[in-house]
Amino acid sequence: MKVRTRFAPSPTGVLHLGSVRTALFSWLYARRFDGEFVLRIEDTDRERSTEENVRAIVDGLDWLGLDADAGPFFQTDRFDRYKEVLTAWLDTGKAYHCYCTKEEIDELREQQLASGEKVRYDGRCRDRARPREGVDPVVRFRNPDAGEVVVNDAVRGRVVFDNAQLDDLIIARSNGTPTYNFTVVVDDSDMKITHVIRGDDHLNNTPRQMNMLEALGVDNPVYAHLPMILGPDGAKLSKRHGAVDIRDYRDQGYLPEAMLNYLVRLGWSHGDKELFTTDQMIELFDINDVNQSASAFNPDKLRWINQQHIIRASTERLGEQLVRFLKRSGIPITSGPSPADVAEVFRERAETIQQMADNSRYCFVDFDAIDPKAAKKHLRPVVLEPLKAVRTALAETPDWEKKEIETVIKKIAAEFDINIGKLGQPIRVAVTGGAVSPPIDATVWVIGRSRVIDRLDAAIQIIAARAAASNS
Ligand code: GLU
Repeated sequence: MKVRTRFAPSPTGVLHLGSVRTALFSWLYARRFDGEFVLRIEDTDRERSTEENVRAIVDGLDWLGLDADAGPFFQTDRFDRYKEVLTAWLDTGKAYHCYCTKEEIDELREQQLASGEKVRYDGRCRDRARPREGVDPVVRFRNPDAGEVVVNDAVRGRVVFDNAQLDDLIIARSNGTPTYNFTVVVDDSDMKITHVIRGDDHLNNTPRQMNMLEALGVDNPVYAHLPMILGPDGAKLSKRHGAVDIRDYRDQGYLPEAMLNYLVRLGWSHGDKELFTTDQMIELFDINDVNQSASAFNPDKLRWINQQHIIRASTERLGEQLVRFLKRSGIPITSGPSPADVAEVFRERAETIQQMADNSRYCFVDFDAIDPKAAKKHLRPVVLEPLKAVRTALAETPDWEKKEIETVIKKIAAEFDINIGKLGQPIRVAVTGGAVSPPIDATVWVIGRSRVIDRLDAAIQIIAARAAASNS
């Protein structure tokens, strides 16, 4: 039997971390077992479903590389099919029209509450012979009255529901539109879904869906209900905890593979391994290894994972990513070094690509002024002569190579009998405008000779002026 999983978001909101984790687990399981991954957009709630949300979902999955083998299917395209099943069920008595008014249902509810019973529809229209004038009926599924429904959940284990606790669910509204639990069942059956992997907020729907699958005469898929993702404060993850739309992470400079790596660890583990390539996840993932307990979103860890993936990304890919963010920040890249070289020099320190773009800005554009604190501390008259010597040597060095630059700096530090750090820091401040940068030889190299010489000249002038001022 071919494994077929599905991701079935409702476009009533954007794609957020929790739904991406659900999509990822479904996708991984399909990839792991050479199966198929189906994308189904559950848009029957027409008032709350929007085109923009569909776009957010499709774009988000696309960015993450969670490609579907079939779909996107839209439930609103399948109303004829739902109607067909509804009609068949009405004909065979598996479903029935319910003419109860809102007042009647409210009254029933009051009575049940007063007598301490569980609030549920009592099935009073099950055997109604005639329609009620002037009332558009809903359709209800005739749920079995007795017996148990046993969910052998791949994550939660055996969960038993009593049919006596389940009432006759509305499967079509009075305007004829089908409801969620019903469309899911028809679709999971028609689309030959073998594994339903979804959030555990759906666990209570499962026995109802299983009863309806039985009414359809098809086997149950395997169910796997994923534990919730909590915010760092222990409450259910929500907007308050930061970015909601997965595309915000893309725009903040997270790599999609890092996002997937971070999310796979929310509920799943393989020993104490933290870093996974997407191929490794596919190789190792199994839904049966998913943990039952809720896991908490930790933005610090996400940044760390992203940094690790940045460190490991290919130079070419990192260069392309950097270009995107430089452009977005309005930094011109035509007159500067190759972005791939810059990415190579800056990769060790960036937690996001946006940070890399911000940190490497001085490679592409001149800074307005040196940071005054750094200037005051590091551009002192004592380094005037050594800096001049560095300037001359760097202007003359035949090959503009990191190794050679390093040799020049070392040599001059030795000549002036100063610590290499004591020379490196003023050079850094001169060429970057600040006190923090990657190793000095790589920094000087990547900025490029002509900018380095100009910036050293400017720093030399500043120091000379300072020396003159303190002498007078
Ligand atoms: N459309 C449902 C949701 O977005 C998911 C349905 C399912 O996975 O069964 O919550």
